[in-house]
Amino acid sequence: MFKSLYFKIVLILLIFIVAVMCAVSAILMNGVSSYFAGQFSVQMEECFGKETILYGELQEAAKDVQDAAGMKEILSSYGSILGIDAYRNYYVLDGDGNMLTGSDAKLGAQLEITPNLLSAMDGRYDNRIISGTEYADWALPLAEGEVIVYVKDSLEEVQQLNQVIFSIIIQAMFVGILIAILLSFFLAKAITSPIQRLTWGTRLVAEGDFTQPIEVNSRDELGILTENFNYMKDQLKDTLDEVSGEREKLRTVLACMRDAVFTFSAGGKLLHWNDSAAQLYRNSFGQEGDAVLDTCLEEMDIPLQRENGRLRLTSPDAAVERSQDGFVFRDRIFAGRVFDVSFGVIRYAEGRKKVPGCILIAHDVTGRYELDESRREFVANVSHELRTPLTSIKGATETVLSDPEMDEEMREYFLDMILSESDRMTRIVSDLLVLSRLDNKRTKWQVELFDMPSSVRRLCEVMRTDLEAHGHTISCTMEEDLPMVTGDRQRLEQVVINIISNAIKYTPEGGHIDVALFREGDRLVTTVTDNGVGIPEEDIAHIFERFYRVEKSRTSDAGGTGLGLAIAKELVEAHGGQISIQSKLNEGTQVRIELPFVGKLKPAEEE
Ligand code: ADP
Repeated sequence: MFKSLYFKIVLILLIFIVAVMCAVSAILMNGVSSYFAGQFSVQMEECFGKETILYGELQEAAKDVQDAAGMKEILSSYGSILGIDAYRNYYVLDGDGNMLTGSDAKLGAQLEITPNLLSAMDGRYDNRIISGTEYADWALPLAEGEVIVYVKDSLEEVQQLNQVIFSIIIQAMFVGILIAILLSFFLAKAITSPIQRLTWGTRLVAEGDFTQPIEVNSRDELGILTENFNYMKDQLKDTLDEVSGEREKLRTVLACMRDAVFTFSAGGKLLHWNDSAAQLYRNSFGQEGDAVLDTCLEEMDIPLQRENGRLRLTSPDAAVERSQDGFVFRDRIFAGRVFDVSFGVIRYAEGRKKVPGCILIAHDVTGRYELDESRREFVANVSHELRTPLTSIKGATETVLSDPEMDEEMREYFLDMILSESDRMTRIVSDLLVLSRLDNKRTKWQVELFDMPSSVRRLCEVMRTDLEAHGHTISCTMEEDLPMVTGDRQRLEQVVINIISNAIKYTPEGGHIDVALFREGDRLVTTVTDNGVGIPEEDIAHIFERFYRVEKSRTSDAGGTGLGLAIAKELVEAHGGQISIQSKLNEGTQVRIELPFVGKLKPAEEE
């Protein structure tokens, strides 16, 4: 209550009114006293002036010092001019200030010696009105100071008048105070209402409600302030909308980013992370803790250490690239994937301060890494696969050349070896060419509508000699009325030949191979099942990779290149189909080829 504006305004007005009234009463009362004193001296001067009749008469009467009664008579005849009444008296004094006679003998007996009286006793006519005294007096020396006519006013009239003025002022003051209280109420209301509206508005803004404008009821300073507040509120809303829009954009960008983004405080505490980061850690870092950055560094094998809120390289020769504000570490393996990890310094707001922190971005480069790896492996495989037959050819040629006397049978053996190794090289190179064309989408497809069952039946017949050479039996089971297939017949037949040849190659003598064709939805399924050596479980996932072979010694005896299944996969997938393999070691293998009846190869690609 005492702190309210209303109370302050009332208090100020009260103080103002009391102060004004006090000043007015002081000025008035002082003015009345001064006026009275002035009037008194003018009146005395007019009566006792040397040119006046009264002065002449008194002068004459004073010649006889004993004639005080005569002087009294003169003075009383001038009583009304001198203003003699209950408060003002005249006295006739001797040179020592003793009363000879006077209008009030009682008062005259107790006269005090005033400065004016003292001057007259010295024979000087030198009167002064001294302010602040409770009387006004006038002394006229006659007969060279032997006789003094002395007039003294008790000023009681003035005091009574002053008391009346004072009581009027007190009454006026009370009325003024009442008016002040009333006025200050309206004044306070006029001032505080817009301020209260402003306070309400600021509270709404602080709570985030920007919808309610504050009413402007006046054009005064408070009205302008309210208008400016409304304008500021609109501007603030626009800015906040902009900022939240930007933040939303940033949030969406972060959420859509496939890179994992983490930010840490200088103390290593995790501040923010995006969805990819959460996935990377399977949300396990949700519990905040100081050790999170250290855990990341350790788990990603990054040679950085926190030191006084900064990151420092722990091993100077680490494979690191320095960027403008941080480090980049390439090919860090974490959670079974490969990342390029970048560190940067950031500054973020903590309260009102800007404090340093760091940002870690893990860019998943597994695809690139695997591609690079498979390229390197592929080049190594190609070199190895070509070097083996080349070594054999070189060795055989050198042997033949070094021994011209070599018998015919031996020479034929070496020449056969050269021929078969050259064939092997030719097969590898032509398989690689097929794969390269498939990779570069430069294969020239001969798309046609053909009957797959009759093709497979024919292939089984063609391969019968080979089958019999290995002592295998073969059975073909085909569903009735299978629809025709669109695709490159020759290449699809090549796939089936490869699969049956594998079954022949990897089945010990006297095995059985079953070829089956049936329909599954809109697909034609071909399965080739053997009861051969089978494939170990751990090799199955890699069996369609280029140059991948199970136990190289075992399969190179069988004359394989390790490219057959890779080519089959590419060809089947180019037709929009799928190829898969199921196998059990020492029990047998089943290869399953699924083809859509209408393949995805288009005549355009045919060209
Ligand atoms: P290759 O020319 O060496 O036969 P493939 O790509 O056709 O190359 O086959 C890859 C490997 O898969 C072979 O080396 C072989 O070890 C294994 N494989 C393929 N088919 C069979 C099968 N029917 N039975 C057992 N192993 C097989």
